[in-house]
Amino acid sequence: MTLPTTAQHDALERILERVDLIARCSEHDDRITRRFGTPALLEAQQLTENWMREAGLETTRDPILNIVGRRPRDGGADDTSSPPPVLRLGSHLDSVPDAGRFDGVLGVLLAIATVEVLRSQRAQLPFDLEVLAFSEEEGTRFATSYLGSRTFCGQLSPETLERTDDNGLRLGDLLETLPHRGQPARPLDQPCLGYLEAHIEQGPVLERSEAPLAVVTGIVAQSRTVPA
Ligand SMILES: [Zn+2]
Repeated sequence: MTLPTTAQHDALERILERVDLIARCSEHDDRITRRFGTPALLEAQQLTENWMREAGLETTRDPILNIVGRRPRDGGADDTSSPPPVLRLGSHLDSVPDAGRFDGVLGVLLAIATVEVLRSQRAQLPFDLEVLAFSEEEGTRFATSYLGSRTFCGQLSPETLERTDDNGLRLGDLLETLPHRGQPARPLDQPCLGYLEAHIEQGPVLERSEAPLAVVTGIVAQSRTVPA
């Protein structure tokens, strides 16, 4: 077994400290809930963007407040005629009601720590790296999930903007009130080498088999309906 380097060890400690800081961003004092567009999520997003910048990433926010942190490839462009490929890492920052502290957050913080370790090791990469912090995955506020990744891919439909939360607030109207909204991302402008998301398992399978890690080979597609 290879022991972690000092930089990796420091990164692990930093990740756990940051998990705790984001866990404090909640709509409730005694449990973690960060629904889309709430002050709790906005606070977690600001912390995350600050850490991305400290790691040397250039950050932007899209219209639904996904945060994209970019690290350009090393060595500059020898062939400017074709865009360089990009590798994407990340996860989501919103949560279900009464959530676990690692869900989503861990994937974002691991991605930032990866950039920090690369920097400390002066690693050279022949491709761009993007850290993605999606603003919405869980579907808890508007009864439809993956608002963040759908927007990132340019697939948020006008009908989705008409959805309302429990207080009758339209998603489209909520978006108008959110601070620091930016331009749509253009992920298809670059060839994508892959997207890697470290995520906790929300079930007992790994624990029962005493496996700390697994690679997803299939995924469940969800659809939700709202009573008329
Ligand atoms: Zn999750």
